[in-house]
Amino acid sequence: MNESLPLTTFSDLGLAEPFLRAVEAEGYTDPTPIQSKVIPEILNGRDVLGIAQTGTGKTASFVLPLLHAIAGDKRRADKKSCRALILVPTRELAAQVADSVRTYGRFARVTSTVIVGGVKPGPQIRALSNGVDIVIATPGRLEDHLSGRAIRLDATEAVVLDEADQMLDLGFMPAVRRILGKLPRERQTVLLSATMPKQIRGLASDFLNRPAEISVAPTARPIERIDQSVMHMAKAAKRGALVDLLAGAEVERAIVFTRTKRGADRVSKHLLDAGLSAAAIHGDKSQGQRQQALKAFRNDRVRILVATDIAARGIDVDDVSHVINFELPNVPEAYVHRIGRTARAGKSGIAVSLCDPDERGLLRDIERLIGRAIGAEGDAPPAERRDRKPKRASEARSADPLSGDKPPRRRRRARNGKSSAKGQAVPQSRRFAKSGPESAGDGLSRMLGNIGSRSDAGASASTNT
Ligand code: AMP
Repeated sequence: MNESLPLTTFSDLGLAEPFLRAVEAEGYTDPTPIQSKVIPEILNGRDVLGIAQTGTGKTASFVLPLLHAIAGDKRRADKKSCRALILVPTRELAAQVADSVRTYGRFARVTSTVIVGGVKPGPQIRALSNGVDIVIATPGRLEDHLSGRAIRLDATEAVVLDEADQMLDLGFMPAVRRILGKLPRERQTVLLSATMPKQIRGLASDFLNRPAEISVAPTARPIERIDQSVMHMAKAAKRGALVDLLAGAEVERAIVFTRTKRGADRVSKHLLDAGLSAAAIHGDKSQGQRQQALKAFRNDRVRILVATDIAARGIDVDDVSHVINFELPNVPEAYVHRIGRTARAGKSGIAVSLCDPDERGLLRDIERLIGRAIGAEGDAPPAERRDRKPKRASEARSADPLSGDKPPRRRRRARNGKSSAKGQAVPQSRRFAKSGPESAGDGLSRMLGNIGSRSDAGASASTNT
């Protein structure tokens, strides 16, 4: 535990009564670490550079103070303008942030609108015409409206870049820079990112003014709570194996990942044909279809969501018991994002990857990133894999720099196929291999960000000024 963690309540943070009421109505008793650090900085008008993943309460950390500032100042937005802009990488995240704006702003009079692609622009143009307090936008559609003069940003007072590293991954950086260039120099800028690659650092130094740097790790990083395993099989065997896995009674809610949109459609159809309740979500679906699928999944009308990586970003659904990688991702970081869809809100979760012979290289990349091998299920892995230690296994066994925890004295040696002392693969008796509370290796730490001040993973946030 970090002793410097201030013992704050939401009212200590300086939020006005309508927002205290809103968080109380949500059942929040105390601010999360990122909230207790970020909210006062934004209320003081400072720029903020924050490292935080989803699940830390980061959305409320910027939405609450923005609402407070806007509601406390009676000015209205100019026509075709907004007082605050929240830029996000995906439509789904835009919808979720907009939900938070409505939820936390329900006892105040603050207007907001969502500007995203995949829907008709007309209603968005009309919504912007009289001016709006908060615009939540993805970069592409916002730029369309900027060039069509449906919106201008020269009077916008605050901008938030949420999940900046995802915007980078999706190729939005040039658009983000152009958009930021249209805002007045005198403004407040908040940049939140789960990782801090060089380009995001560069963005921060170009567009933020002496920011407060705040870094938090989630209470328990999902990866530590996730029971990960891999099943080796031929490509043709995957569909049958998937149905078997998902038909299990222990599967409450599952997300199945495919690499391609067509793959997602095919898998979802196969699951439906097998009598399972599934829906696909990917970039070729209309915004309405995507929202509908998500809603059905949230409301338990659909038990299985089949998704591509991009479509799944920002999906915040608790109680996802299983993540199944029907195909391994091409980019190893995507594996960590995928499996992070389970084990949310302090729960544990199960991640199973179906790996065909062509994907073994991808599996190796993932293992290198997370710093350990993923226990194999079923078929024994090929000889070349059997005796291979995960790269940097020593680091995998060392203390996790983010957790502040001491490494366990003895650690189960995670090996494919659970090698016996003689190096023979022994079949696993359990359906899903249970992995101990292992530290993520250096690759994951790198991915989680390397900002100067790092804090206790348990419950802390730190501010560097
Ligand atoms: P986020 O990191 O913004 O995606 O938030 C993750 C989840 O935490 C959301 O479901 C929020 O409703 C919830 N949450 C946010 N702030 C708090 C809080 N202070 N106490 C309890 N839950 C919270």
